Amino acid sequence: MPPVDRNNPVRGEGSDSQFTLMEFLRQYGTDAQCLDWLWRTRYAPDGHTAECPKCERPRKFHRVASRPSYSCDSCGHHLHPTAGTIFHKSSTSLHLWFYAMYLMASTKTGLAAKQLEREIGVSYKTAWRMLNLIRTQLMEQDDVKLSGDVEVDETLGGGNVRAGDARRGLAYVHKSHRPTVWAAVERGGRVKAKVVKSRASQDVEGAIYANVEPESIIFTDEYRGYDHVRLSSRFIRHERIRHEDRVYVRGHVHTQTVEGFFGNVKGGLRGVYHGVSRRWLNSYLNEYAWRYSNRFERRAMFDLLLLRTLSD
Ligand SMILES: [Zn+2]
Repeated sequence: MPPVDRNNPVRGEGSDSQFTLMEFLRQYGTDAQCLDWLWRTRYAPDGHTAECPKCERPRKFHRVASRPSYSCDSCGHHLHPTAGTIFHKSSTSLHLWFYAMYLMASTKTGLAAKQLEREIGVSYKTAWRMLNLIRTQLMEQDDVKLSGDVEVDETLGGGNVRAGDARRGLAYVHKSHRPTVWAAVERGGRVKAKVVKSRASQDVEGAIYANVEPESIIFTDEYRGYDHVRLSSRFIRHERIRHEDRVYVRGHVHTQTVEGFFGNVKGGLRGVYHGVSRRWLNSYLNEYAWRYSNRFERRAMFDLLLLRTLSD
């Protein structure tokens, strides 16, 4: 066996070790490194040469010492790598933003603002705002429809009720006041999750039409909000499992995958976020859907978040 090279340790196999904190800090540990990443990715792949909008040709640029910008050697025009991103005009420094994204890409269950506040030493309000921007902008769900074998289900969101309190009857919220959360999961693939208006057919079935390609097989439980005749005519097939009869799996007919996703969401909302109000529920659904849909490895998830900061 070759001797262990302490300067170049071999990584473990687990997906969690794919992008360690040490590796992250080596690449993005300072504001200058983070700004350099934005600069190279947006304007200057070699770190020096960028298309100058004023000279209208490639020019050498140099870093402006006092500001997060780069200046054209020929005409002095400034380029701002953070312009148009969530970092721009933020009083929080770049590497703290990058670190918050690293944490969001690393956790499996969620990241409470209280924890981020402690980790990076910003106020609770700032920590909450940062996480909210990451959820609403970087993790926003795309419009690409699901296809293949797609399981669909809906559940009642908790409102702002903790499970224990609800059980003890301390914070009872009437069913009609609790938001309906709808989700569809592509087996082996991505998920869509959102708050819909109600459990009525036009809302839950309508969400299927809006989010799933017609060349798909739809799996639901027996809930009549999903009309069998209509769904069968608009998709390859509609398969139903009869939970009423205590049947949960019939061959490949089941909704266990989407129920598993709801389990993750509910566990996180209860355990990490201690309940989420209706107003912000969609942004948290973005977060869980994003994590589920991109569940390859830490490194890829972080890179994906980072690249999202550059799109509108
Ligand atoms: Zn110029």
